[in-house]
Amino acid sequence: MNFHVLTLFPEMILEACNNSILKRAMEKKLLSIDAVNIRDYTLDKHGKVDDYTYGGGAGMLMQAQPVYDAWCHVAGRIERDQVDSTEIIGADAKAVAEANGGAKQKKKPRTIYVTPQGRVFTQEVAKEFSKEEELIFLCGHYEGIDERVLDEIVTDRISIGDYVLTGGELPALVMMDAISRLVPGVLGSEESAQTESFENDLLEYPQYSRPEVWHGKAVPEVLLKGDHMKIEAWRLEAAKERTKTWRPDLYEKYFEKEQTIKRLMKQKKENAYLIDSLLTGKARLLHTMGNAAIALATNDITYMICCETKEEGEALLAYVPEDARLLLHNCAQLNDFLRERYGFTVGDECYQSVYTQHTAMPVAHKDIRPYPISNIDYAVENYGGEEEREYLQDRIQKGEFFAAYENDEIAGFCGVHSSGSLGLLYVDPKYRRTSIGSSLASYLVNWSLERGGLPYAHIRVKNIASLKMQEKMGLYVGKRTVFWTYRKEKEEE
Ligand code: SAM
Repeated sequence: MNFHVLTLFPEMILEACNNSILKRAMEKKLLSIDAVNIRDYTLDKHGKVDDYTYGGGAGMLMQAQPVYDAWCHVAGRIERDQVDSTEIIGADAKAVAEANGGAKQKKKPRTIYVTPQGRVFTQEVAKEFSKEEELIFLCGHYEGIDERVLDEIVTDRISIGDYVLTGGELPALVMMDAISRLVPGVLGSEESAQTESFENDLLEYPQYSRPEVWHGKAVPEVLLKGDHMKIEAWRLEAAKERTKTWRPDLYEKYFEKEQTIKRLMKQKKENAYLIDSLLTGKARLLHTMGNAAIALATNDITYMICCETKEEGEALLAYVPEDARLLLHNCAQLNDFLRERYGFTVGDECYQSVYTQHTAMPVAHKDIRPYPISNIDYAVENYGGEEEREYLQDRIQKGEFFAAYENDEIAGFCGVHSSGSLGLLYVDPKYRRTSIGSSLASYLVNWSLERGGLPYAHIRVKNIASLKMQEKMGLYVGKRTVFWTYRKEKEEE
């Protein structure tokens, strides 16, 4: 992740980032932070970057020209790093940005203007930004920045709260700090980001360290006994209690989600994808209506509906915008309506297999580990070819792809799809008819259980062999199928 900060006070940004976790992450090359002084780009011979506002009023405004030129410099550099460097080395960065349409180029780098007028920064927004490779922050000062340049270069306007600060450096730092901790590898243990406040719409539970008794106050007994189930239960209750008291608005969201999950659970085998996504925080509940519900995955692309009737489905589609790209649902009668309204057709029709127990499955083959990125070619070759490289790379980098080893050689692999369904299974021909295939599948089930999910897989209706294997392993296959629907490109049809 590369942060680029456009500011009048670059030293303020660099000094603040040169400590603790961010410093370590930069040393490990997980992050880079580049602070660009807007003043270096002014054409004013006295180095001025601000002027009076038209129409009068108190205070000065940052002018468009230096901000635009500083942005072009950064955007050009990002672009230059992304395209064949030999073609443009030595070219002026502004020219590069403008040759590509300047501010109107096809895909502007994500440019965040930090402003009290923006949408409010939350953990969810931090997660959204943490998926970007490059982020540009634009820090205002004085009365702010000339609106015309903001219109040209800014993709997002974000505030850190309903109060007004003197400049954008502190908000940019706050956001960079929150985003960085979500970049894989920045925090020592992945655990620390997963159990924190706002995950699952709850505040984090209270925590205690030594001594056992301090100022006459003892650490709750359950935490001293090492019974993990009881500790987890206590923590969940404590988290609920404090959320209810301190953040009733958040608790309401949590409660609604829990109730929805409970209702969806009545038909686990039909609703598994939505249940799992809500349980693991892979989707955000948008609306619920009796036993039917709609959620949006955290990739902000996949809408998911669970319903039994066409009428329920149609009502829930009120939450799906016209330009939506992908919808997963489990109601065959909805497909005609989806074609008419969204131009969506069914890409894949799948059966859904679900592991309904709470206990871990036995895994016969012991040597299963996270898949090493250095071996990505083997996975690409054996799972869909070059077209799948980017997807597989993402799965590996997210730690959701695994390899089984035999004599230190990869004998097969498996993974979790970005939607949450288990699969991506492959066994090297040398090791077929051994326990490796079923071990990989069981390993995934256990992985999902450990994360509090409902393990499930989507199997294309024609893949009878895979369906049989799932049933043999003890997974239940639902009666109704699920539909991955989207707008197919002309040439694809
Ligand atoms: N005149 C502006 C208004 O009323 O909306 C406020 C300008 S403020 C004094 C100067 C700069 O500080 C802004 O351009 C923005 O970059 C930053 N800033 C101030 N408060 C902020 C907040 N709550 N969140 C994000 N940025 C903020």
